[in-house]
Amino acid sequence: MKPILPGCAIGVLGSGQLGRMFAMAARRMGYRVHTLSPDQDTPTGQVADLEVNAPYEDLEAVASFARGVSVVTFEFENIPAATAAAAERNAPVRPAGRVLHTTQHRLREKTFLSRAGLPVTSFRRVASLEDLREAARELGLPAILKTADFGYDGKGQVRIADTSELARAWQGVGERESVLEAFVDFECEISVVAARGADGEFVHYGAIENRHRNGILNTSLAPARVSKSIARDAVEIAREVLEKLDVTGVLCVEFFVGRDGRLLINELAPRPHNSGHFTFDANVTSQFEQQLRAVCGLPLGDVTQCAPAAMANLLGDVWSNGEPDWAAATAISNVKLHLYGKTSPRPGRKMGHLTALASSVEEAEADVQRALSTLVNNA
Ligand code: AMP
Repeated sequence: MKPILPGCAIGVLGSGQLGRMFAMAARRMGYRVHTLSPDQDTPTGQVADLEVNAPYEDLEAVASFARGVSVVTFEFENIPAATAAAAERNAPVRPAGRVLHTTQHRLREKTFLSRAGLPVTSFRRVASLEDLREAARELGLPAILKTADFGYDGKGQVRIADTSELARAWQGVGERESVLEAFVDFECEISVVAARGADGEFVHYGAIENRHRNGILNTSLAPARVSKSIARDAVEIAREVLEKLDVTGVLCVEFFVGRDGRLLINELAPRPHNSGHFTFDANVTSQFEQQLRAVCGLPLGDVTQCAPAAMANLLGDVWSNGEPDWAAATAISNVKLHLYGKTSPRPGRKMGHLTALASSVEEAEADVQRALSTLVNNA
């Protein structure tokens, strides 16, 4: 493949913070960035060369957008299949539309993983209340009912503790095609962010330890405090996933680590991931530059991590007492502040993050938490 070189324009479908950080990496290397989404004044649009406002269903607009760039990538995987196909008729799309198709639908994703012999949480397809009753009998309770599509950050999910809750749970997911998953009593959650070049070159950022609150990522620590063998197994599983899906780009595999040390894949994200944000500050090549290199057909960059890191998300809740005290948080010199340029800080909305680098993940975490509490308490 002939590499796409600096000076060329890259198209990003989606316009959130992942596209923003991708655009920063791309513009640093002299590329132009175009973004398409239904929204205006977006996190990506603010740093892109061109922000196109169009619904994803406007296939004419998508085709014309794709004709104006050398390659199309995405930062949001819930792009309709027809949109990816319209882009693919006019420019290379990396990762390919079929990767999106598999990973944007929980049932297709889990079916792909289990057929590939990779370890996934036990699951059943649910298309009616009757299916749900049967699935609950087979898997046992507690379990989690998740909509098959358009679910992220714990949205479209209902935890079921007891059979009396089945009917309410079915209503809770909008009576839509769903997946019932056995509840995993895990020791911890980890993820592996990895990249694969067009020629099959593979790099990864090791195991990252993640803590969620209300289904949303709260904190990530890198490297994860798991045994070498668990970290190695997770990386090998991630390698298999990227190879079997034939990904050109970045993909994150999220895992549960069972109390017996067994790994189960929770889900895949075919793009840079929130748990890999620390790489922006801590690694020689960030996950965003790696996405750029992979989709442009350049050699992948050095993934060396310069220091242990901790990342904490800044959700809209941080604004509950008013504007956070940015000056106080930036006074902690090893903490880096990232804000995504979003204007309305709704509770649960990802507005930015903090990354701390220190001599251990424990110290990095203490620093990032100190910065977080200064932000809120001085507001
Ligand atoms: P998801 O959007 O599917 O990644 O779920 C968000 C978070 O909810 C996960 O990171 C876990 O903390 C929790 N969760 C999801 N599925 C399960 C499960 N089957 N067992 C236990 N916890 C889960």
